[in-house]
Amino acid sequence: NGFAAFGLAPELLAAVADLGFTQPTSVQQQAIGRAMAMDAEGRAINDMLVSSQTGSGKTAAFLLPVLHTLIQQKAAEIEAERKAHEEAVARGETAPKRARRNPLSPRNFQAAVPGALILCPTRELAQQVAHDAIDLVKHCKGLRIANVVGGMPYQMQIARLQNADLVVATPGRLLDLQRSGQIKLDQVQFLVVDEADRMLDLGFAEDLAEVHQLTANRHQTMMFSATFAPRIQQLAVRVMREPQRIQV
Ligand code: AMP
Repeated sequence: NGFAAFGLAPELLAAVADLGFTQPTSVQQQAIGRAMAMDAEGRAINDMLVSSQTGSGKTAAFLLPVLHTLIQQKAAEIEAERKAHEEAVARGETAPKRARRNPLSPRNFQAAVPGALILCPTRELAQQVAHDAIDLVKHCKGLRIANVVGGMPYQMQIARLQNADLVVATPGRLLDLQRSGQIKLDQVQFLVVDEADRMLDLGFAEDLAEVHQLTANRHQTMMFSATFAPRIQQLAVRVMREPQRIQV
């Protein structure tokens, strides 16, 4: 399988095979390796500005690198918890029972603190991207994807949002939830702006600027756009550090 060379987590390679992808598309070939490049602390080093059309395979080009890192982090977390538990048992301590929590009860409310955020201009695109992400994590234990778009029942969305590792959102609803304290964006490591040109067409420039501020701790930003029009270049300069440019 042509995806094996990227060094992706085996769970992702299995999902890619299930989807019937055998060879990376051109944008995947150019973007995935560069998006996965890391420094010694395991932080992504490349911001990316990618021009690509719908149908080019751009969704997997950003989802695979982001999901790969989230999977590695989740595995390290689970291993640390397992070790702590083992040590507690060795010391003769009994593990505290974990109560089942009803996420809808206000008493149990916890704000979502996702590690990755994908912004889409429309609800339909956000749903498609979330759907693709769910397909790609089907072999991964404990990785949660949440979709945040206008028009979905609020209670249901909040319940699904808690513990989300990756949030796929339209900007308006995301900022509503941020302002009401349902979601915190300061732990976001990866920010993806999909269809940035349509995002600007639809008047989301202010919202993007706000998300950029709220996710100031992030390691990596990837912007996908059909064109590199001047306004896209200006946005790129504002929200990224010397992005790698990929033109498909
Ligand atoms: P996108 O450009 O992300 O909307 O993807 C367009 C379509 O191509 C989607 O239906 C994907 O499932 C499919 N696709 C993405 N990557 C590959 C690949 N490497 N091989 C075959 N199909 C793919």
